[in-house]
Amino acid sequence: MTIIRVALDVPVDTLFDYRAADATATDIGRRVVVPFGRKIAVGVILETLDSTQVPAERLRNALRIMRDLPPLGAEDLRLLRFAAEYYHHPLGAVIMGALPTRLRRVAAPSPRKSRAARALTVAATAPPPPTVIPAPELTAEQLDATAAIRARLGTFQVFLLLGVTGSGKTEVYLHAIAAALGAGKQALLLVPEIALTPQLEALVVHRFPETPMVSLHSGLAGLERLEHWRAARDGRARIVLGTRLAVFAPLPELGLIVVDEEQDASFKQAEGFRYSARDLAVVRARQRGVPIVLGSATPALETYHNAASGRYAVLALPSRIGAPPPHIACIDTRGEKLADGLSERLLTAVRGCLARREQALVFVNRRGYAPVLFCRACGWIPGCHRCAARLVLHRQEHRLRCHHCGHASPTPVACPGCGNPDLAPVGQGTQRVEEALERCFPGARILRIDRDTTSRRRAWQSMRQRIQNREVDILVGTQILAKGHDFPHLNLVAVLNADSQLYSNDFRASERLFALLTQVAGRAGRGGKQGEVLIQTEFPRHPLYAALARQDYRAFADDALAERRQAGFPPFVHQALLRAEALRLATGLEFLTDAARKGRSLDARISIFDPVPAAMPRRAGRERAQLLVQSESRARLQQFLRSWREQLAAARSARARWSLDVDPFEF
Ligand code: ADP
Ligand code: ZN
Ligand code: ZN
Repeated sequence: MTIIRVALDVPVDTLFDYRAADATATDIGRRVVVPFGRKIAVGVILETLDSTQVPAERLRNALRIMRDLPPLGAEDLRLLRFAAEYYHHPLGAVIMGALPTRLRRVAAPSPRKSRAARALTVAATAPPPPTVIPAPELTAEQLDATAAIRARLGTFQVFLLLGVTGSGKTEVYLHAIAAALGAGKQALLLVPEIALTPQLEALVVHRFPETPMVSLHSGLAGLERLEHWRAARDGRARIVLGTRLAVFAPLPELGLIVVDEEQDASFKQAEGFRYSARDLAVVRARQRGVPIVLGSATPALETYHNAASGRYAVLALPSRIGAPPPHIACIDTRGEKLADGLSERLLTAVRGCLARREQALVFVNRRGYAPVLFCRACGWIPGCHRCAARLVLHRQEHRLRCHHCGHASPTPVACPGCGNPDLAPVGQGTQRVEEALERCFPGARILRIDRDTTSRRRAWQSMRQRIQNREVDILVGTQILAKGHDFPHLNLVAVLNADSQLYSNDFRASERLFALLTQVAGRAGRGGKQGEVLIQTEFPRHPLYAALARQDYRAFADDALAERRQAGFPPFVHQALLRAEALRLATGLEFLTDAARKGRSLDARISIFDPVPAAMPRRAGRERAQLLVQSESRARLQQFLRSWREQLAAARSARARWSLDVDPFEF
């Protein structure tokens, strides 16, 4: 009798046995249709067995093994197993979640060749890249970096490619990829947000015109995603370019992994299965015995620490290509009365920029008109009724919006508390800055770029085109603009409202701010000219701004690491967060208090803090609380989490929903 053990997408950590007369060991990794309760479900076969503990009368027959596609490889399953264990998420949910949606359905995917499949070799959706035609000759630094990677093909090695913005990291990726392709291998290139990087996709296609490339990200239509996944799985696609979910793409001949902007928060999934694609990419490289390149101008401190302690090899690109580094200075706004948040010196700089017919970028990392609406008469401030958050004024749409749950309501004409009709917007969002700039520079062509203006498909692409064609004089934008875009006519970057992140109680806030400002500053002065960066601040002498002005990441990182070591923060400890959600805060806290007590009796060497409300204590109508646990030993923490989770699962709190977040990124 043949038994198959099947992973199903269920929220418990159990595998399910079925009878399958026709199953053989070659079916491991294949999808199978099985009865589950009163439904029919698709799962993946993980083992074939001769016998099972399930009593014969309860053992059910599998309905159909789907042999239309090659199975998931043993190596791919190994990564998924690791991910499930490490992040303490049910294996079935992890495996099924890694499949394209169409493969999770009972109906077989349509065999019809999609547009996507035909377009495999010409996947460029963006206009051809403005630069790098033809391929430039590498600098000595780029050559050294490329040679070091090539020398380690076929072996596991983590490289940190530490290159200032504009130092030509992309060329190093491309040459490393070329080397892997030349050795007959597939290459995986992970980027933070593919929707914002059609430039890279176009560049890859342009540089490897003969090489089939596919992209994998959540923006693809179902059939397209399936075809791309399938091309990766059967080895047709030699380059896979994707966002975090692509870390699970089945790649039988994987030879190299590249993670661009490795510090980016979007590599960590923030809901459900909370994995870090960057960290799993390193695990995957180790499992497969291949090199991995982590590229950044401002690596995560965890990564930098690994490099400093010799675990990762550093490849440095210390100089910018083709232009001197931008000149970065602070505008001291203490004592100055700002008109709509814009200082006189900033306006003068923009004026100069316009006179020279160059582009300027005003960076405000907040969309909407104003983050707060305020009644001066009675102090009323509108908040979201579902979240512990203030509503953001979106003036053009006459709406107040919650940026956490999406709730929207009309802007009140008067204060509901006291009837005062004169409600004051406080603080600046992109819309307000845009409006102020329109008043100051009536002749200038101003373009606002934030999530509200780029949400439509392809909107960002056509905006990028307009910037490139110099149809825009002033850009107002959020971090969407910070990442990896090359605007040759942009020479001034002005930063507003950065100070709020200097003294945040999130211990990673300054690291994020440094990375963000470095990226934004890197947008200035790419067309051969020196760019200028002006940061409006009330703390012009803050060491973070000083290090930024010197573009001295290492000085910043060394200081920050020393602080973290002293305070006992990651990377010097390893953390996990037990999150609980309930209708009432007390329910969540009760659950966590009980969990903390259980944990303390399990292992006294694990530091278990007290349960607290989450930084955002209410979201979308649910109260949220959390409990932090940490240890200097990752192995000990993992062992603890295993037993702890079993106990928590056994206790079954009906009223609190809980989940574990390993290596939490947001608190
Ligand atoms: P980074 O990713 O490090 O910020 P990029 O890879 O975007 O930098 O490169 C910055 C610019 O330098 C790009 O326009 C790129 O085409 C150009 N570039 C890269 N390498 C060279 C080279 N060896 N010679 C000339 N230009 C180069
Ligand atoms: Zn009022
Ligand atoms: Zn809300």
